[in-house]
Amino acid sequence: MADRALKTVEDLATAGLVLPDQLPDLRAVAEKYAVALTPTVVSLIGSGKTNDPVARQFIPDPAELLTTPEERDDPIGDHAHSPVKGIVHRYPDRVLLKAVHICPVYCRFCFRREMVGPQGDGTLAPDELEKALSYIAGNEDIWEVILTGGDPLVLSPRRLSVIMEGLAAIPHVKIVRFHTRVPVVDPDHVDEALIASLKKSGKTVYIALHANHPAELTERARAACARLVDAGFPMISQTVLLRGINDDPAVLGALMKAFVETRVKPYYLHHPDLAPGTSHFRLDIAEGQKIVSALRGNISGLCQPTYVLDIPGGHGKAVISEGAARPADGCYAVSDFRGAEHAYPPKA
Ligand code: SF4
Repeated sequence: MADRALKTVEDLATAGLVLPDQLPDLRAVAEKYAVALTPTVVSLIGSGKTNDPVARQFIPDPAELLTTPEERDDPIGDHAHSPVKGIVHRYPDRVLLKAVHICPVYCRFCFRREMVGPQGDGTLAPDELEKALSYIAGNEDIWEVILTGGDPLVLSPRRLSVIMEGLAAIPHVKIVRFHTRVPVVDPDHVDEALIASLKKSGKTVYIALHANHPAELTERARAACARLVDAGFPMISQTVLLRGINDDPAVLGALMKAFVETRVKPYYLHHPDLAPGTSHFRLDIAEGQKIVSALRGNISGLCQPTYVLDIPGGHGKAVISEGAARPADGCYAVSDFRGAEHAYPPKA
């Protein structure tokens, strides 16, 4: 296994993961969108397998240089719902707290690719974190705080403790949820110090694990999840439906079964967002509906995720399984949680 993360396209060439003649194009990609692969991810790929389903998630591709007209820098509309830096308040009873915009890996299809990475929105400074916590404290409707970003579990246990102690002092917050890829891409990082910091709020803590292919659920990843579940944190999953990676009922079903075996309850299957340079990963909603329908009945009810779309523009999530998203005028009609109807893809 590599002994350090690969963070440049030159690192990838040295590791044999890309060819030297690909470097000019890939440098252009890396100038726009961050690159990082942990040693664990590199070991899952092995050398020279640029088309394997793990490689495609993390190794940059010249196709990322193409931005299509419907793609946008802020595909799910975070900015439109950000009352103070680091907070996204889209729904009445919950907020996102984006304390960090660094990730241990950079997914090529990332919906926040314009915000994450070394040139991204950075980490909240102590006074900015204080203002974000004050916003939460001042809004008694906020029942749940969702730490996302970036990957919040890259924060040191000391910084996580500061956040969790801040949340401990807000009585109306009952649930703290973390969205992370760490147990899969850097399982050894899930250690006693990290777990102790997550307990500091005294609240109910959920961990949402992001994984997209059954090969990611290695023995070490499963052991990291077991440490979290045994520590008292229920786990749920989130997966992005991606062309060439998991757009196959057999692969998706195997992933959902691997989650359940790991005590991670399948939760969301996301239709890929309209992030710039990601059209090569996107499939049509009808294709997604067919794949999701094929899971029904064939695998246990425990293994069924909910197929959702984040409606572009910040209107929140819509369930888009068969019957819920309807073909209309060459696009789809989807309803937001307030009952308003939107066209997808949005009309220019
Ligand atoms: S871990 Fe999440 S936020 Fe980070 S690059 Fe991947 S999808 Fe984006």
